[in-house]
Amino acid sequence: IAPEIASPEPLPGDDEATLRPKRLAEFVGQHRVREQLELVLQGATQRGVPPDHVLLSGPPGLGKTSLAMIIAAELGSSLRLTSGPALERAGDLAAMLSNLVEGDVLFIDEIHRMARPAEEMLYLAMEDFRVDVVVGKGPGATSIPLEIAPFTLVGATTRSGSLTGPLRDRFGFTAHMEFYSAADLYLVLRRSAGILGVDLRGDGAEEIAGRSRGTPRIANRLLRRVRDFAEVRADGVVTRDIARAALEVYDVDEQGLDRLDRAVLGVLVRSFGGGPVGVSTLAVAVGEEPSTVEEVCEPYLVRAGMLARTPRGRVATAAAWSHLGLSPPANAPG
Ligand code: ADP
Repeated sequence: IAPEIASPEPLPGDDEATLRPKRLAEFVGQHRVREQLELVLQGATQRGVPPDHVLLSGPPGLGKTSLAMIIAAELGSSLRLTSGPALERAGDLAAMLSNLVEGDVLFIDEIHRMARPAEEMLYLAMEDFRVDVVVGKGPGATSIPLEIAPFTLVGATTRSGSLTGPLRDRFGFTAHMEFYSAADLYLVLRRSAGILGVDLRGDGAEEIAGRSRGTPRIANRLLRRVRDFAEVRADGVVTRDIARAALEVYDVDEQGLDRLDRAVLGVLVRSFGGGPVGVSTLAVAVGEEPSTVEEVCEPYLVRAGMLARTPRGRVATAAAWSHLGLSPPANAPG
């Protein structure tokens, strides 16, 4: 299955390193989070201690990894990167922790997917900067306490609800990242165009921003595709008309829905009369994994007001019918 152009997950070719904001001042939007984080970092710097552990929570592609890197840069510290799924055994985490030097920032992406023994080891490390390493097995096993350099943990999660209470409680500060407004995505696009050397006009940026699903990662990806089109089929200048024509080629419509989104809505409306229908039935009908439909399509369709999740299944809203050019039945939710 070809990766979808409008997926919020990273895809090969995104080349994110080039476009990542490096400092807080370059980080577009999320004003609340930025202000809060500035205070946390400055307060700690003034007191001469590492800042509290930070949890970044929000959907993929909104800038959590970028913010983790920025936190380290603002502190003048090194960043160590790992992820929940990579920390399968407590020993993996112990190795990581014992290599930290004072003031380091340790970034754990997808922290909700860490294995339980590693998670339990992390509690003590976060609280007291030490771990107990168990050596040996059975009755002969001994536990050796190990000091760790004071560090700041930055955890990122797309599902803060899946975090256990004890882990959540050990973060001094939680930043909730929100989807970006079209106005903020406009600024993201102008910044990226400057870096990539693309002649992106104001109306072109507006058009791409409106189709980017509130997500900077998607905005940047659409910009790259539109640039190709502009360079190959026109003079390289990205105007509104060029952006429209390019995104038509890639099946990304005015609202940012892609081929798969429209397939899901199409099946829901045409084959099931608008629902309610279960997500696995929908997935089979469009030839996708239920998890793809649930985690990639649905969050945006719900946010765009086209799909409602009910206890009895998924239901198409009146807006979904209209989006497909059909008139909604009287009982379609608004
Ligand atoms: P996440 O870790 O939440 O999935 P990333 O930090 O990897 O998201 O961000 C994905 C891409 O989106 C980055 O490479 C960056 O180019 C862009 N991006 C994200 N947030 C911003 C922002 N606030 N300003 C500018 N670009 C951003």
